[in-house]
Amino acid sequence: MSATIIDGKAVAARVRAEVGRDVAALCERAGRAPGLATILVGDDPASAVYVANKRKACAEAGIADFHQHLPAGASQDDVAAVIEENNGNPEVSGILLQLPVPKGLNGKELTALIDADKDVDGLTHVSAGRLMQGAAGLRPCTPLGVVELLDSYSVALEGAEVVVVGRSDLVGKPVAFLLLERNATVTMCHSRTRELAAVCARADVLIAAVGRTEMIGPDHVKPGAAVIDVGINRTEDGLKGDVKFDAVAQKAGLLTPVPGGVGPMTIAMLLRNTVIAARLAAGET
Ligand code: NDP
Repeated sequence: MSATIIDGKAVAARVRAEVGRDVAALCERAGRAPGLATILVGDDPASAVYVANKRKACAEAGIADFHQHLPAGASQDDVAAVIEENNGNPEVSGILLQLPVPKGLNGKELTALIDADKDVDGLTHVSAGRLMQGAAGLRPCTPLGVVELLDSYSVALEGAEVVVVGRSDLVGKPVAFLLLERNATVTMCHSRTRELAAVCARADVLIAAVGRTEMIGPDHVKPGAAVIDVGINRTEDGLKGDVKFDAVAQKAGLLTPVPGGVGPMTIAMLLRNTVIAARLAAGET
C-alpha cells in the first residue's frame, strides 16, 4: 500500500480563502473588520517570525492588526495591563499572547487573563473547560487544524479508534477532546504508556504530537490507517516530523508530510477563530 499524502497547504489555502470571504461579509454586516491583537514580549527570533507570519496572514484575510511588542524586560504587570486593555477594546475580537514569554514571566498566568471570548488560541482555563464539557467556545488552533484535515479527506471519525500520542495542553489533550466530541473512541498515550507500538497499531486514526524525531514507525501503524504527524523537529537534515515518513507511507492509507501537513493549518485556524470570536461579539451565533 502507498498512502495518499495529505496536502495541508491546499487545505489551509481553502480555509484562508473562506475566512477572507467571511471577513468581507462580516465587515458589511457589523460595519468593521474583525481584529486580532498579537502580543510579543522580548526578542526571541523564532517567536518574532511566528508573530510576523500570523500578522501577514491576518492582513491578507482583511483582519485588522493590533500588534503590541513589549521589551524583554517587561514585568508581569506590564503584560497583564496590555492584555486587560485588549480585553476591553471592542475593536479587538481576538487576543494572542505569543508563547513562550521570556524567563521571569509566567505565561500560564498571563494566558489565563485573556477574556475567554477573545481567546483565539483556545488556551485559557475557561476555553479548556468549555471544550471538555462540550460547551460553545474557542478551541486550540493546531487541534482544530488536525480535525479539518481529517474532514477534508473524509476520514470517518464516528466510532473510529483514534490514538493520540502526546498529552500536552496545547495539542494532545485538546485534539483528543475534539475527536471525542466527534464520537471517536479515543486513547491518549504519553511517555509512561506501555507497549506504545501495540496500542498505536489499533488505531484507525493515529495522531503523533510528541516532538521526537521519527519515533513512530511502521510497527505503530495499522494497514490503511490515517496518520497525522503534528511533530516539528529541527534536525541537521531540516524539519522532520514524529513519523518515519517513507516507511509509514508504505503502510498507512493517509499521511501528512512535514513540512506541508499540519503546520500550515495552525495559522488558518487562528484566522477562522478570529472570525468566530468577532461573530460572537456581534451577537451572531
Ligand atoms: P510537549 O513537549 O508539550 O508534549 C509532548 C508529549 O509527548 C508529552 O505528553 C509527552 O508525555 C509525550 N511523549 C514524550 N516522549 C514520549 C515517548 N517516548 N512516548 C510517548 N509519548 C511521549 O509537546 P507539544 O504537544 O507542545 O508539541 C508536540 C510536537 O508538536 C512538537 O514537535 C511541536 O513542535 C509540534 N507542534 C506543532 C505545531 C504545528 O503547528 N504543527 C503546533 C504545536 C506543536 P508526558 O506527558 O508523559 O511527558
